[in-house]
Amino acid sequence: MYAVDFETPMNVLIENLAKLQAVELERTRVSQSIRALPAEVTQAELLLAEAQQAAAAANSELEREDRLREKIEREAETHRKKAAHFREQQDSVTTTAQAEAIEHELTFAKAEIERLENEEYASLERTEAQETALAAARAQVERRAEDLEETRVNVEARRQKLAQLLEEFGAEREMLRKQIDPDWLARFDRIVANRGTGIARGENQQCTGCRMGLRPQIWNQLREGELLNCDSCGRLIYWDDRMTPAPKAPQAEKARSDGHAIRRPSQAGAHS
Ligand SMILES: [Zn+2]
Repeated sequence: MYAVDFETPMNVLIENLAKLQAVELERTRVSQSIRALPAEVTQAELLLAEAQQAAAAANSELEREDRLREKIEREAETHRKKAAHFREQQDSVTTTAQAEAIEHELTFAKAEIERLENEEYASLERTEAQETALAAARAQVERRAEDLEETRVNVEARRQKLAQLLEEFGAEREMLRKQIDPDWLARFDRIVANRGTGIARGENQQCTGCRMGLRPQIWNQLREGELLNCDSCGRLIYWDDRMTPAPKAPQAEKARSDGHAIRRPSQAGAHS
């Protein structure tokens, strides 16, 4: 025999378990994405509801102003009628006192008419501004209604794609599980139930699942192609010869900041 046999049963098992784990992680990721989708619609609905409220508020402000102006107009009309009545009376006065009294009433009515006409003008100006605000608020409602519709369509399209993906991953998962020895599969499932993941690569004499160091003996066995449990986290660990080892960081150049500042009580006591 002159070539390394990559298709040993152990290598196939390791590969299938690693693939199974990758598929499980993808399924989780896709499921989370699906669960996050309705929140996007809810958010768009919320924004539309806010815009609708703002438009309703702008509309009632406009209506309030209209009612106020109608009241001003009615009051002004009353004073105009009074003024007309006093002018008629002026033609038939007989005494100076009467003339003065009517003149006084007429002056008051004219002043009221002028005041109310000014108020009406101010009200019309407010209405003009309110109409602009209402138009802007209604345009905002339309935009947000369109946004909501777009979001719904977009979310549904993504949901369908994700559901399709989930189905594919589910099928792949079933296919892989069928290929894995039931005892190893049961061990793997038990670790997944406890740890979230069941299998991890050994790298730089560490378990990549928990980052704890591996005993030299375990490391050597991994290098020989065995599948073992990590002493620290219990995950299945394997060595992947296709992974190039990461270069070690130059430890000497890094100044340690921990541990040096602590003064021992005995040293502190020696000077006293
Ligand atoms: Zn570990």
